[in-house]
Amino acid sequence: PVVANQIAAGEVVERPASIVKELLENSFDANAGQCRVVLDEGGLARISVKDDGIGMGPEDLMLATERHTTSKLTRLDDLGHSPWLGFRGEALAAIASVSHLTLASRESGAAVGYALTVEFGRIGDLAPRAMSEGTQVEVTRLFDTVPARQKALKSPAAELAACQQVVQQLALCRPDVGITLWHHDRRLLETGGTGDRLAAIMAIFGRDLAEQVIAIDHTFSRGLRIQGYVAPAHVHRANRAGQGLYLNRRWITNWTLRSAIEEAFKPELPDRRYPYFWLWLTLDPDTVDPNAHPTKAEVRLLGERQVAALCHRAVQDALAEAAK
Ligand code: ADP
Ligand code: MG
Repeated sequence: PVVANQIAAGEVVERPASIVKELLENSFDANAGQCRVVLDEGGLARISVKDDGIGMGPEDLMLATERHTTSKLTRLDDLGHSPWLGFRGEALAAIASVSHLTLASRESGAAVGYALTVEFGRIGDLAPRAMSEGTQVEVTRLFDTVPARQKALKSPAAELAACQQVVQQLALCRPDVGITLWHHDRRLLETGGTGDRLAAIMAIFGRDLAEQVIAIDHTFSRGLRIQGYVAPAHVHRANRAGQGLYLNRRWITNWTLRSAIEEAFKPELPDRRYPYFWLWLTLDPDTVDPNAHPTKAEVRLLGERQVAALCHRAVQDALAEAAK
């Protein structure tokens, strides 16, 4: 099983940022209101994610790191309509097979917590631990036994930047969850968790930018709603770090939507510059491709071209209205 898990690990766990994403999404699935992410050496030396969610009992802790065990999938049909971000039970097993993983949890209502350490796939002993309600996952010695993977890792600074991107995107995706990010003893991000999207944008991109953004809120037929913020076309940056697409409480990437939206900022947008936009889409779950690979952010939509055209128009209208 260790080998199978290490193979699976290649799909789920590429670098610290992919681990941070899996762990935060598990916290979201556990109904967390607060999540604290701590990284050392850009996540290469240590990744810790602590939440105040529903937690796990000692039996669940043992199960959680086994492959294909998930508490989330109840019927096969749920794969298409799952409210959960994870539903295959692969992430923790995969991470545990290529690192030292400590899983500590105190179930809500329980008197005490328990901790379990898995070292490169070998499950250790379960021990009681004094802790507050919720779950803390800690990952150290990442890829120590997988030199090929280790060679593919970048510098701590580059890995940190990738982790920061993921945390920012998930914080925007779920402004109702308070998220803090620390690198060693430096706090890099703190969102309030009030649910206010603009407050989350301000926490990440600063007051200056937040004061310039234009709000969007359109409801269309077939249950499509587009909400969000864009900055005027003359405010732009050299990369796409100021863009986000969120669909039914998931962070997604979708090339068709992105290009249609970027198009709406032209011709004012200079070459090789990228506009700021954050759009939260609500769509009938039946129109999202159930075959989309869960670890891949690229999500296909039925009627993608029409949705893209509506996003384009919503952004264009907002920019035009603000320019009056
Ligand atoms: P999946 O998310 O696909 O179910 P994971 O390997 O990510 O698979 O997690 C396995 C199981 O461990 C989850 O189904 C859940 O029951 C439990 N779990 C993981 N993280 C947490 C957490 N932060 N809080 C509570 N339970 C968790
Ligand atoms: Mg998961």
